[in-house]
Amino acid sequence: MSTIPAALHVPELADEPGLVHGFSTVALGSVGLKHAPDPSPVLASRRAFAGVLGLDGAVLTTVGSVHSAAVARVDKPVDSVDDVDALITDRSDVALFATYADCYPIVLWDPEKKVAGLVHAGWRGTRAGVATAAVSFMEDEYGCRHVRAGIGPGICGRCYEVGEDVAEQFDQRFLAPGTGGRFLLDLAAANRVQLEDAGVKPVYDIGICTKEHYLFPSHRRHPDGTRFGAIVALR
Ligand SMILES: [Zn+2]
Repeated sequence: MSTIPAALHVPELADEPGLVHGFSTVALGSVGLKHAPDPSPVLASRRAFAGVLGLDGAVLTTVGSVHSAAVARVDKPVDSVDDVDALITDRSDVALFATYADCYPIVLWDPEKKVAGLVHAGWRGTRAGVATAAVSFMEDEYGCRHVRAGIGPGICGRCYEVGEDVAEQFDQRFLAPGTGGRFLLDLAAANRVQLEDAGVKPVYDIGICTKEHYLFPSHRRHPDGTRFGAIVALR
């Protein structure tokens, strides 16, 4: 038996009544189809991931992940919603899913309205304000007023080095000097500020860097197409 956990959770949201969420670790293998030579083990890993979260047989509705700030609602289980980076649902038969390797998953949850969301935030989506857009969408479409958030695993501000072309698009407070004239960008901090400015309270953070932690694949550490997954669903 492996001692590696199959999935991790934002601790403060793990026991939230009505909400199911998790992040798949390397114990489950890659859940990314895009660079997979053979889709069957990837699909098996996705099924196993759903099973670990108690969602056996669930259709996973995949976030297209196009590095935008586009948001969509999901009212019935479908395979994927393209051209968006955040999906929101209030349906208990829907399971939201996205894949990552350094970009940040963000779990959104309104315990009063029983509405949940899953965001994919890399630097482009963060710059475009995808977290802000997702919270606004929950307010406008579902009347949410008490949204909580959990920031999942992603590449941290000590590890994520970017060039000046990227750095100049972000506020100085999210930047630090890198090596060779490059910059370190703290995407988790940038997303936390977006969420807090949108009235989200509290904003939790699992605090795990994908580049530094062996439990999750990192594109920057090992760019082989391996992806971990995030699932958000209502119970
Ligand atoms: Zn790091």
